[in-house]
Amino acid sequence: MPTPIAHGLGAIAASSLVAAASSLVPGRFASRRGFEAAIARIGPRRGIAGIAGIGVLPDVDLLLGMHRGVTHSLGAVFLVGAVAGAIAPTARLPVALTAAAAFASHLLLDWLGTDPSSPYGIMAWWPWTTDFYLSDAQLFMRVCREYWMPECWRHNFLAACRELAILVPVTAAALLIARRALRLGGRSGG
Ligand SMILES: [Zn+2]
Repeated sequence: MPTPIAHGLGAIAASSLVAAASSLVPGRFASRRGFEAAIARIGPRRGIAGIAGIGVLPDVDLLLGMHRGVTHSLGAVFLVGAVAGAIAPTARLPVALTAAAAFASHLLLDWLGTDPSSPYGIMAWWPWTTDFYLSDAQLFMRVCREYWMPECWRHNFLAACRELAILVPVTAAALLIARRALRLGGRSGG
């Protein structure tokens, strides 16, 4: 499964694409002003840090000794979106969608990762099923947690390099798309 670096980047990319998409939707859901209001209130740096934090959040289950279960599910995505929307000071729908996208990106990256321990993958479709799912892509290397072994650090360094090589261009592209879309949305009065 990927490192927190990958999950932070993935969350920023996913939430940028959601911002781009929803800023171009006309009418009630046009959220350019909503995003601007939310960013102005929270602050851009705190906003990005918060989004990256939400991307890492599912792995809090490591502390509970039940990794890749309920916190790695669509049920948790809905819950996080609902809570974020409920506590948002403004722009509740955009904030809920952004938080849900950031959280969901964690599931996607884990699903695309490598998992050598059973049960393999994540409990993606909880509460509908408690089955575990893992893609065959193995796009990201596993994180070694045997930190007392020198080989483990070398492995994790390589894993992080691979993640950066994949996700930095993806995140940069997503940020560019969001920037353009927000400008377009602004021009059309959204
Ligand atoms: Zn995870």
